[in-house]
Parts: sequence; structure tokens; C-alpha cells
Amino acid sequence: MSDSLARVGREVVHCERCPRLRRWCREVARTKVKRFQDQEYWGRPVPGFGDPRARLLVVGLAPAAHGGNRTGRVFTGDRSGDFLFAALHRAGFASQPGSVARDDGQSLRDCYITPVARCAPPANKPTPAEIARCREYLAREWALLTDLRAVLVLGRIAMDGFLAMLRETGCLPPRRLEFAHGATHDLGRGVRLFCSYHVSQQNTFTGRLTPRSFDTVLAKVRRHLAREGNG
Ligand code: SF4
Repeated sequence: MSDSLARVGREVVHCERCPRLRRWCREVARTKVKRFQDQEYWGRPVPGFGDPRARLLVVGLAPAAHGGNRTGRVFTGDRSGDFLFAALHRAGFASQPGSVARDDGQSLRDCYITPVARCAPPANKPTPAEIARCREYLAREWALLTDLRAVLVLGRIAMDGFLAMLRETGCLPPRRLEFAHGATHDLGRGVRLFCSYHVSQQNTFTGRLTPRSFDTVLAKVRRHLAREGNG
């Protein structure tokens, strides 16, 4: 049977490969946080989200305990998502500036978002083994998103996870690619890698990552896509 993004998504939602993460997600979904006590949490792995014809792939770290693990959609229902979707909307990739629930009408145009680990981890820290176990899904999305021309990694762990996937699939350029906010690297075949600090509150509340500096990275992505045609 041929693979599809829908099939990857269905498998992700039922994945049980990481017992520590599955236990944590279920426990958070059961106990909840006070402000969301009246809501039913998703509590399962969170699939990628976006446009199957996307030229931009955004690679994040993992769903947040009371964000994606509550709503069932990546970067949805938390401050990181508020920051990311507002910026994607300003750059013309998202239909709305907000992302609050799976049925909020949000849609991505020319952009697909996926995390390197699809279950919310304790302390927002998946282990290297958990990220490695989740890599198959990223590899399949990478193979299925055939129009990709740009990859935006949010933070060093996302970049390491993405590059490990490229290495395992034999697509990694034979040179060292350094992480730095604003750095870009040629991945070959017209695809360019863009690096940004993660959109976590730890970075956005401290001013390490500002809307302006993130917009600058997205503007670079836009210029690259325009050079590649139809941008
Ligand atoms: S992190 Fe990935 S591999 Fe591990 S249980 Fe969740 S979906 Fe499965």
C-alpha cells in the first residue's frame, strides 16, 4: 500500500513506542491544569499539520503538555503557538493569526509543521532515544512532501533531529551544518535550511527571540521561495 500523510497521521495518533511519554501524556490529560479543567484533553501523539503541497517545512521540538497534548494539533493552544502562528500569518503562510483549537478554522498555505517528537515530554525534554524512535514519521513526511524547497528548524534539538533523519535517509550534504539563529544552509536540490531559536516562552518572554527577528527569518524563507519560482 502506498504511503500518505493521512496514513502517517493515523499511525502517529496510535503510536505507543515510547512508554515514558505515553504515560506522561495520559497522566497530564487526566489531571489537567486548573484553567483547562473543563476541557477534554487529546492526550495522544500529535500528527503533523499543514498543506500537503507545502514548499516550507517547519520542524519543531514536541507538543506542549497543555498545548498540543490538550488540543491535538501542533503549536495549538499555547503561547509558543500564538507566537508562531501570528508570524506565519504575517508572512502569508497561515490563514489566521491565532491557533487555539483543532476546529478553529486555521489552515496553512504552502507550509507544513511537524515536531521531531510527537508526544509531549516531561519538562519539554524528549530523550535522544525517544526522538530517534519518532524519526520514522519525520522521514516519511519528508518523502511525501515532494514540493519542499525550504526547511525552518526551531532550535538546535529540532535541527539535530532533522539532520539525523537526513543522514539516515542518505540525504545529508557531506559537510558540517552549524546551528545559529538566522543561519541558512544549502541542502542541495534547491532546498535550503533556515535556523531559528525555538518559539518557546523561554525565548520569547526573555526577548531572545522577538517577533521582528523571527519575521526576518521568515522573510529570508520568502525570498528563497520567490527565487525558486511561484513565490
Ligand atoms: S514520541 Fe513518537 S515514537 Fe514515541 S510514542 Fe510518541 S509518536 Fe510514538
